[in-house]
Amino acid sequence: MTELADAPVTEHERSTTRIPHWIGGARVDGTSGRSGPVYNPATGVQTGAVDLASVEEVDGAVQSACEAFVTWRETSLAKRAELFFAIRELFHARRKDLAEVLTAEHGKVLSDAMGEVARGLEVIEFACGIPTLVKGGFSEQASTGIDVYSIRQPLGVVAGITPFNFPAMVPMWMWAPAVACGNCFVLKPSEKDPSASLLTAELLKEAGLPDGVFSVVHGDKVAVDALLEHPGVAAVSFVGSTPIARYIYETGTKHGKRVQALGGAKNHMIVLPDADVEMAADAAVSAGYGSAGERCMAVSVVVAVGDVADPLVDAIKQRLPNVKVGNGLEPENEMGPLITREHRDKVASYLESGAEQGATLVTDGRETAPEGDGFFLGVSLLDNVTTEMDAYRDEIFGPVLSVVRAETYDDAVGLVNDNPYGNGVALFTRDGGAARQFQFDVQAGMVGINVPIPVPVAYYSFGGWKASLFGDTHAYGPESIHFYTRGKVVTSRWPDPATSKVDLGFPQTR
Ligand code: NAD
Repeated sequence: MTELADAPVTEHERSTTRIPHWIGGARVDGTSGRSGPVYNPATGVQTGAVDLASVEEVDGAVQSACEAFVTWRETSLAKRAELFFAIRELFHARRKDLAEVLTAEHGKVLSDAMGEVARGLEVIEFACGIPTLVKGGFSEQASTGIDVYSIRQPLGVVAGITPFNFPAMVPMWMWAPAVACGNCFVLKPSEKDPSASLLTAELLKEAGLPDGVFSVVHGDKVAVDALLEHPGVAAVSFVGSTPIARYIYETGTKHGKRVQALGGAKNHMIVLPDADVEMAADAAVSAGYGSAGERCMAVSVVVAVGDVADPLVDAIKQRLPNVKVGNGLEPENEMGPLITREHRDKVASYLESGAEQGATLVTDGRETAPEGDGFFLGVSLLDNVTTEMDAYRDEIFGPVLSVVRAETYDDAVGLVNDNPYGNGVALFTRDGGAARQFQFDVQAGMVGINVPIPVPVAYYSFGGWKASLFGDTHAYGPESIHFYTRGKVVTSRWPDPATSKVDLGFPQTR
């Protein structure tokens, strides 16, 4: 990333599409003189050059958001709800356009990109209920002649810093509740696939969102640090890898901001001996290789308990030759490329290190990757993986599924609980009692029972435990309303002035 930041603009980049910022309701060309390359991962060809913001440009976006906040926070709940219904309709109508932008820069297959937009739309639908969501409480006659009520008010300007793997949905997790709550939102999207954020900005404007309420500043560490240090930014939401999440949390809170920082993951899918093996294999393949494994909720490790291991590994292996890998725009393909050449090579290196460290390389995706310059790797399966191996310890974030064999249920759950991450986890079983015990025992934020990718619906909140979350508020759902507002409690009385007297005692509730 620093490499990109320091690179001067080349002739080739000048011939590709320029991807500017969005500030004050319009596209604004960057003035820093720095840009980063954007690729079509399916072809390996550079298609764009994204402007990387300077500290001054970030300041300009925050100033514009601060100005917009004055009017936006006064906009009635009725008007905000009406606007969110319009936003929902427009995003729904243009969902295919948005999905195509995602496929072009991220590489995920179009059907998966449509799924991303659909899950993001659910959060916009949740935000349509904003009048109910920010409703306070009221206690009449809390003390004699005294009423007490609570209200929730927006924070001001809030920032979102988002990862490459969900360029539309993760920003929707943030801006929809933040803006509905009355805040102005500055998005710093991933510089690897930045165009979805510009289309988002254009659609929001078309739907009627006032200028300055939603802005986009592209950039790298320079822009992120400027947001973390800016006195005009009240809160920061982050989604990305664990080391950066930790940095964002520590730096943001040091500068007095409210911060929620969602980090990386290593999601386990435990298969008990009584599970339906065919169903478990279908689930492992779908959740392990969907979006080329570049999902924070992807299944990365299958924990096969007892004698289910051999039939399960066989059933997974049999399915792999049928997974169609290729350009995401071609409808027959089920899995696209990885985000960059470097990331593809890093993912592939775990096949080598896994085999060297004693795992069994059952299926080697390097042998099945489509030809050409695209950043492809075929689906890969490692068996007999142990907890000391790099393939187990690191978040691979690619189409590599590891199988760890455990003797008992207790061993399997112990493995999950000892892992530093705690994002998603799944259990496959036909035993209701075991499932209930599992949801009680397991240390993870999102649990699936015979559901391999338990991403909560929009009216619950999304978030992990341990190194998968810094801060204590999860994304979207009720916790997002809490995160993007501050509580205020009003105690009021309307006494008869004739009864007024001086009383230096501490107010008592009688
Ligand atoms: P990343 O951490 O590299 O980047 C995320 C954001 O941080 C980007 O906007 C990037 O520009 C910025 N950034 C990167 N390096 C920085 C630095 N040194 N200083 C300041 N800012 C920096 O993550 P990524 O590769 O874009 O996304 C993949 C990661 O995101 C995976 O670890 C995945 O598990 C995680 N993720 C987590 C969730 C979740 O909900 N927990 C969801 C999606 C992705």
